[in-house]
Amino acid sequence: METSTDGGDGTGAAPPVETAVVAAVPPASLSPSRAGDFMQCPLLYRFRVIDKLPEKPSEAATRGTLVHAVLERLFDAPAAERTAPRAKSLVPGQWDRLRESRPEVVELFSDDPDGERLTRWLGEAERLVERWFTLEDPTRLEPAERELFVEAQLDSGLKLRGIIDRVDVAPTGEVRIVDYKTGKAPRPEYAEGALFQMKFYALVVWRLKQVVPRRLQLVYLGSGDVLTYDPVVADLERVERKLLALWEAIREATETGDWRPRPTKLCGWCDHQAVCPEFGGTPPPYPLPVRSPGSAAGAQGRMGPD
Ligand code: SF4
Repeated sequence: METSTDGGDGTGAAPPVETAVVAAVPPASLSPSRAGDFMQCPLLYRFRVIDKLPEKPSEAATRGTLVHAVLERLFDAPAAERTAPRAKSLVPGQWDRLRESRPEVVELFSDDPDGERLTRWLGEAERLVERWFTLEDPTRLEPAERELFVEAQLDSGLKLRGIIDRVDVAPTGEVRIVDYKTGKAPRPEYAEGALFQMKFYALVVWRLKQVVPRRLQLVYLGSGDVLTYDPVVADLERVERKLLALWEAIREATETGDWRPRPTKLCGWCDHQAVCPEFGGTPPPYPLPVRSPGSAAGAQGRMGPD
């Protein structure tokens, strides 16, 4: 999971001047989540990638991180011991590790002195972990990779990167890319948007290993659904064209400083309403040099996932 909170807004004791400001740099690569940000709202992308504005941890996202960690660690055990009780027993320890590595998540429960909310939240994480066993059988799986960081450069120079939850490789060499979601499966009409991330990963794997993954698999622990798609070369070529167009639009906005807000229902989950013009706010000064006005091509039309 990517973070975007390393901007350093100087709220604590003033550090030495030379380390107080993290210089903004133009984006150099694209991940599925940042591509999704730009498609959702170019201004949100700017706040996260260019300004690096801090965001508060959320219960749902943090639970997702916790559940992912449990599912990954379970594969450390011998196949026969990968049971639901064993997986549930990993939850408290992984929560401790998460608090150590990301102390900011502790604030989620700072107003919960008797620990009731935390207990409920941990219980929900356990239920999500348990549901996984109704969808897949980890005693019969031997992942080739878990939490695999991948990065590939396209011929155009665009760098794609991301983290794949699990890669399975069959004895025949066929590759399956698996991603866990702690939310619910989308309605069929929105499945294409959900598959965008998977096709992105498939493109990266194809570019890296010259193998088109046989299957893309989304495992929805929130609703107990599995969504699969078997990509073909034409799908991946289409995604590549889409990403190149997206990157062109991002580059244009980076150079002109013209990042447009695109209000949708998702604004309700956005941490940046206070600095968003759609909500009466003013964005911070743009930290990158801008091209002279008048040459902007305005490439920020509505961009769907495919
Ligand atoms: S509040 Fe909405 S329009 Fe404004 S930056 Fe966030 S997502 Fe974009």
